[in-house]
Parts: sequence; structure tokens; C-alpha cells
Amino acid sequence: MRIGVYGAGREVGRSAILVEASKTRVLLDYGVKITETVPEFPLPFEGLVDGIIVSHAHLDHTGYVPHYFQESEANVFMTPPTKDLSLLLWKDMIKVAKRKEIEPPYAMKDIKEAESFTVTYDYYEMVPVTSETSFEFYDAGHIPGSAFTKLYTPEGKILYTGDFKIEATRLHNGADLTGIEADVLIMESTYADEDHPPRKLLEQRFVESVKETLDEGGFVILPVFAVGRAQEMVDILVSNGVDAPIWFDGMAREATKIILRYPEYIANPGRLKRIMRKVHWIRTSADRKRALEEPGVIVTTAGMMQGGPVIFYTTALRNDPKSKVIFTGYLVEDTPGRRLLEEGVFEADGYEFKTELKVERYDFSAHAGRSELFEIVRRVNPSHVVVVHGDEENAIRLAEELNEQEGVKAFAPKLGERVDIDL
Ligand SMILES: [Zn+2]
Ligand SMILES: [Zn+2]
Repeated sequence: MRIGVYGAGREVGRSAILVEASKTRVLLDYGVKITETVPEFPLPFEGLVDGIIVSHAHLDHTGYVPHYFQESEANVFMTPPTKDLSLLLWKDMIKVAKRKEIEPPYAMKDIKEAESFTVTYDYYEMVPVTSETSFEFYDAGHIPGSAFTKLYTPEGKILYTGDFKIEATRLHNGADLTGIEADVLIMESTYADEDHPPRKLLEQRFVESVKETLDEGGFVILPVFAVGRAQEMVDILVSNGVDAPIWFDGMAREATKIILRYPEYIANPGRLKRIMRKVHWIRTSADRKRALEEPGVIVTTAGMMQGGPVIFYTTALRNDPKSKVIFTGYLVEDTPGRRLLEEGVFEADGYEFKTELKVERYDFSAHAGRSELFEIVRRVNPSHVVVVHGDEENAIRLAEELNEQEGVKAFAPKLGERVDIDL
């Protein structure tokens, strides 16, 4: 079989992995990489595919799917929440591009086309892609609807992790590792260099920081991913007795409605519903101004500050040294969020300024930490591993370590590289 890495080779973002086995060609994920300026897309590949399997509804995994429909057609496979959330993200891609006055990667008609070719399956259903190849989704524990893909080809079994997390979070029970054995493992490596701090301790430190700012009369801005992190952070704030107003803005609102439509994909839907009743949902620009009248917490998109209402709040509070921006997720290099954290400079919509705001980051990751990455290798028990979705240093080092310590043949392909595997 041949595995071509057309995106997410020694980088985080624009996942696009082409598996060719026997007569079947399957594309695993088709995402975009968000940067400070224009998004980056996967490298082009020749020929058509028999199917596109999408692991989950984050832009770096699903964001480029409609582009495929500009010139071709293929069945697209996802879980039901991933479909609804992807539609939301795809439409937002066009909106953001228009606002930034850059060329959108596809049009509404391509989204409609992609939607009509998308078929949804729950976990543990055997799905034929071609007459010789099928797959099954397993819960990956990353965000609602996220899935491992186990591909059954005539040349062997492949497990593709997408993004995953084994440890439980407030939203998830963690990945399901039963039955995931395969010959080839294609895995993420985002956090190959570190384990995450224990979540309980992290929550405590985070909540203390929030309360300290509120007590001083400042505002807390939480830039979040719409899917998963936004809901989890509100849960943490409410459960830990933060009694200042919590405002909820941007695409996170739509995403929450979708997540609540699929209660079987989260750990505790009843609690999420109760908790979301305690937040103030922002719908109008008047609401936005009201949110800045008395100290409170503003939970809003985008997570890496590349767009969305977070820009409005950060700009409005730029000269307030009492207020704070707290990041809670991964910040890709060359994003406005990363620059704000590292240099205290904020760049948005063509202007930039130095800010008085305090900036902090807490590692509430929805990704596997270092020991979970080794655990999945042991559980899948493959002969070959292809390491993707990690920065250059992490991906290369993890492949080396797996070669030396785990008795597998591991690769960390460069962008555009194709790996031939004979089982
Ligand atoms: Zn993800
Ligand atoms: Zn990802």
C-alpha cells in the first residue's frame, strides 16, 4: 500500500492523507491550515478518490472538503455531528474570507454539492467504501463526533487516529481503544514532547486566575474553538462557582446547539444543557456592549484569534491592564493568538497594536499527551507507524523513538512525501 501525506506532514494543520491499497484510493481528512494571513491548503494530488473520510469537525481536518467538489465528486463519510458542525465551519470559511477580502477556497454551491455527497455513520458500523474496502468509526474522545477510522483493505488494516484523547474530560469519556488493532497506524503527534498537567489541578489554577481578575474589576476574554472547548470552559467556570456574568459569543453558540442535538456523543448532556442555561447568549451588537459594562467572562471564537468576535473584545479592552486574555488550547505558529501570547502584540484585520492586557495560557488540551501516544501504539500493535499532525521536531523525534523503543517501523513523512508499505 502507499500512504501519501499531502497535508499535516511535519506540521499541524491541513490534514490530507491519501491511502492507496489494491484498487482503492481513500482520502483521510481534507483540512486547511489557519495562519495570520491567508489559509494554507493541502498539496494537490493526481487523480480521483473513491471516498473522503473525515475524522472530526475542526477546520484542519474538514475545512477543504468542499474544494474537492469544484471539479470532482466522491462520497464523503462522517459521523452525524461532524456533518452538521462541518457545514457550519465551511460556511464560516466563506464569510471570513470575504471579510478579509481574500479569495474563498470554494463557493456555496460547492458546499451544497459536498453536503449532498456526505453520508453519515455512527461509531461501530461497518461501511463499504468500494467493493474491496470498508471502514469503521470508533470514538476518538477529542470533540463531539470525533472518530478513529479503521480501514479494512485487501492489503491490510489501517488505523487513522485523527486527533484523539484517551483521558476523560468534562465533555467526553475518552477514546475507545477496544478493537483498534491494525497493521498500520497513522497517528497524530501534536504533544509528542509533553504530558498534560493533571486536569483537576489545571482547573484550579485556571479558576483562581479568572477569579483574581474579576475581583480586581477586570474582564476575562477566553478565545475558544467553537466545538468542544467552548462548552467545556463554561462547564468549568460554572462548576467552580464563578458567579460573575458569563457571556457566550460567536460560532460557539451555533456549535453548542448542534452538540446538544446529539446527546449520545457527549458524556453528560443533561449537565451541559443545565450549564448552558446559565450563560448570557450574545446575539446583537447591543449585547456586545452590555457585556463590557460590568466585569465578567467572555467566552468567544476564534480560538487562535484569527477572526470572530474575539477581535472586537480584545480591541475594546486593549488598554485595560486589569483585564486578561486566557488561552486554553493549542496555538499554531503564525496565528494572531500565538503572537499575542509571545509578544504582547495583537494583529487583526490589517492593523496591529501592543496591548496592556495580561495574557496567559493553560494547557486544557483535547489531544493525547506523550504517554497516551505511546499507549495507542501499544494498543493498536501495528508493524508500521506513520506519524503526522505534529510540528517538525515532534514528528521526527516521535518516529525515531518508536523505531528504537517499540519495535515498529515508523516514519514521519515530509509534506508531499509518499510512503510505500509492504506488509
Ligand atoms: Zn481537532
Ligand atoms: Zn487537528
